[in-house]
Amino acid sequence: RFAMSKTSPVKICHLYPEMLNLYGDMGNIICLHKRLLWRGIPCEIVPVRFGEKLKLSDIDMVFVGGGQDFEQEILLGDLKGNKANEIKAAVADGMPLLAICGGYQMLGHYYKDAQGKTLDYLGIVDFYTVASKKRMVGNLAFSLNDDPSTLILGFENHGGKTYLGDGVSCLGRVVHGYGNNGEDKTEGIRCKNVFGTYCHGPVLPKNPALADLVLKEVLIRTYGSDDALTKLDDSTEHAAHDEALNSTLRHHDDPSLHRL
Ligand code: GLN
Repeated sequence: RFAMSKTSPVKICHLYPEMLNLYGDMGNIICLHKRLLWRGIPCEIVPVRFGEKLKLSDIDMVFVGGGQDFEQEILLGDLKGNKANEIKAAVADGMPLLAICGGYQMLGHYYKDAQGKTLDYLGIVDFYTVASKKRMVGNLAFSLNDDPSTLILGFENHGGKTYLGDGVSCLGRVVHGYGNNGEDKTEGIRCKNVFGTYCHGPVLPKNPALADLVLKEVLIRTYGSDDALTKLDDSTEHAAHDEALNSTLRHHDDPSLHRL
């Protein structure tokens, strides 16, 4: 399929684009789209909304943003059945999926919300989430497990504490902020080709390393090779990253992390 790359677009399914779109999560879709187009790779975004049928057989990646407990509960019925079955099968088959915060929580077994109600989710990856009394709000910085010298920056605002099962790899280690639960220093998940993170922001435009880590898996799955993942001029993205990093770590308790 790589030979046909100019004519066969990478298709990214954007699940619940309006209902799960907190703190600029839509910007992640724009970023993925642009980073493909800048490399001469055509890309098509396929929105799938509440009540619409999900068909992933000709889709190359799924993106789902974050939401509040309110939306997560409303979506529960719609997610079960067709959508859950399609997502489970596609993920088992290696489809890349990126999920942010509330969308990330929906990949686990369940979310016990602030009222103590248990919302049963997809159980695609072995983890669960329990609401805590204290919300975890602020800038989040974590080192990427795929390349620990890379720090990823974002903004987190969640009540849910996520606990990973044995054998589930996190996306990175918390340097500043809370991450999955504020206790074990893990942040997000990186399992099969599933990426989950608590970072809003949107996270991808100012973290091109994370955007390209996801796109690498997308290109390998779509075209059988990541040869098309050429180097881009990311000077603007790096400036935004460094500014966010500096303003985050300036307030860190550990002065060795102060950058400015
Ligand atoms: N409802 C979730 C929580 O507060 C997710 C919030 C979000 O997506 N920002 O834990």
